[in-house]
Amino acid sequence: LMQLSIPLNFIGFIYREIRQALTDIEQMFDLLDVPAEVQDRPGAAPLKVDKGHVRFDDVAFAYDGDRPILKGISFDIPAGRTVAVVGPSGAGKSTISRLIFRFYDIQEGAVLIDGQDVRDVTQESLRAAIGMVPQDTVLFNDTIAYNIRYGRPDASEEEVRRAAELAQIADFIDGLPAGYDTMVGERGLKLSGGEKQRVAIARTILKAPPILILDEATSALDTHTEQEIQAALDMVSRGRTTLVIAHRLSTVIAADEIIVLKDGRIAERGTHHALIAARGLYADMWDRQREASEAEERLRLARETD
Ligand code: ATP
Repeated sequence: LMQLSIPLNFIGFIYREIRQALTDIEQMFDLLDVPAEVQDRPGAAPLKVDKGHVRFDDVAFAYDGDRPILKGISFDIPAGRTVAVVGPSGAGKSTISRLIFRFYDIQEGAVLIDGQDVRDVTQESLRAAIGMVPQDTVLFNDTIAYNIRYGRPDASEEEVRRAAELAQIADFIDGLPAGYDTMVGERGLKLSGGEKQRVAIARTILKAPPILILDEATSALDTHTEQEIQAALDMVSRGRTTLVIAHRLSTVIAADEIIVLKDGRIAERGTHHALIAARGLYADMWDRQREASEAEERLRLARETD
């Protein structure tokens, strides 16, 4: 029996290793999120980014034929500026970010970067020009340094540290038992949503793309974490063309333009102050969110005084 149990244990070990490796590969594909249907057109040229101007020109899109998701969407993100997209769940906010990456082809209109249609350039060059800080970052089962360096594999140790500092995660890493060599991910130290997001920000700071997409987390963060993340996001988006997919309105106040999506169309657009003054959909969303956070605050205070 003894003789048999060792190989069985060993097989169990091998099985777990293989399963974990498969999970890693799956996670990598999730991370890249590349549907196979989009192909480079023959003779596609690399994208030439001049200033990083993004334009949606009368875009219509459906994932499948009969259910249109976006209709008549036109907007510009001038080079170096920030545009925020807000709107109810399912309005099509994340879909807009996927179309800049050309994860799908649109049915009408065009998505242009510095005047080049995303369908005419190589996907490799397109994806190299865009950085994404996703809602939920998948970490590799590796060290925290590896996870940050993924943004630019040839980055030096010093550059990795500097990116971590700018992303407001350096103090956290310095406090870990093995510092930058600490294993993270499913098999290592589990990071919170806010910590993972800061790792993604550090990664993006290293990648230094001309165009940036920030898909803000829906999950409620405590005020302190939210402020730290906001500071990190401000740092990474400075001087870059930025699209913010916003769930918390507090983060869009400073955007150059806010686009309010509803049922796949642009219902309102303008600066925060103009939209508040217009007393429309955005103003309603703002009031509701403020009421919700005030109620949360009252609940928290009541709990503290208990
Ligand atoms: P949320 O605020 O909840 O994240 P959103 O505004 O970002 O929502 P999208 O994720 O863009 O919304 O989704 C818009 C619509 O497209 C939804 O009705 C959704 O069900 C649909 N959708 C999203 N992804 C796909 C997909 N891969 N295939 C088919 N339909 C999809």
